[in-house]
Amino acid sequence: MAQVTTDRLQAEFEGELVEPRDPQYDMLRRVFNGAVDRHPALIARCAGPEDVIAAVNHARDRGLEIAVHGGGHGVRGHATCDDGVMIDLRPMKDIEIDSARRRARVQAGVTWRELDEATQAEGLAVTGGRVSSTGVAGFTLGSGSGWLERKLGLAADNRAQPRSSWRMARSSPPPRASIPGCSGGCAAAAATSAS
Ligand SMILES: Cc1cc2nc3c(=O)[nH]c(=O)nc-3n(C[C@H](O)[C@H](O)[C@H](O)COP(=O)(O)OP(=O)(O)OC[C@H]3O[C@@H](n4cnc5c(N)ncnc54)[C@H](O)[C@@H]3O)c2cc1C
Repeated sequence: MAQVTTDRLQAEFEGELVEPRDPQYDMLRRVFNGAVDRHPALIARCAGPEDVIAAVNHARDRGLEIAVHGGGHGVRGHATCDDGVMIDLRPMKDIEIDSARRRARVQAGVTWRELDEATQAEGLAVTGGRVSSTGVAGFTLGSGSGWLERKLGLAADNRAQPRSSWRMARSSPPPRASIPGCSGGCAAAAATSAS
């Protein structure tokens, strides 16, 4: 398994960097589909958008594959990778509900259970996943078909201000060309909002 030097990343990273020797590594590298058994060289547990940017830059500068882990429900296992950097968004749990504008803003680690709990407390709802541990961001990026879609449309149809409300961590120059074997999450969205 590849080893990744993390000294420079440690200096600017607010979250947690997990390596194969760490006790929580095996639990964190797994995804919902138990048939997927990959071993990233580094799991970057991001505390916020700046960490996402730092982790993307770290991987890009070293030519490492990137996998973005939201809720981990993607069946093909694109949330993890072998020998690359898993950008783990799960610690990013901020939720803001603006009930007057009927708008929610969530960070990229929020699951449908967590968003439903927050919106239901305000008597509000948005089309969410049929399984509550699915990630809001990954679900919405893939359109998102849920319980309320006949009334409210797909989750992506309800995303507000699509251009301005997504904080994108992006490798530059163009990500798809510069990240070898990019496994489906070449740009990482750190927050989104829905109304
Ligand atoms: C049990 C089960 C039930 C499901 N039910 C439904 C359903 O009812 N309706 C439906 O529409 N779909 C359903 N799905 C499919 C699921 O919604 C999609 O696979 C969705 O993409 C999972 O999102 P996630 O964040 O949980 O998964 P992940 O595997 O973490 O993410 C999925 C993909 O999106 C990328 N990604 C995640 N977050 C970000 C981000 N912030 N920025 C950039 N890329 C990101 C990942 O890299 C990966 O490629 C279901 C899947 C399972 C396993």
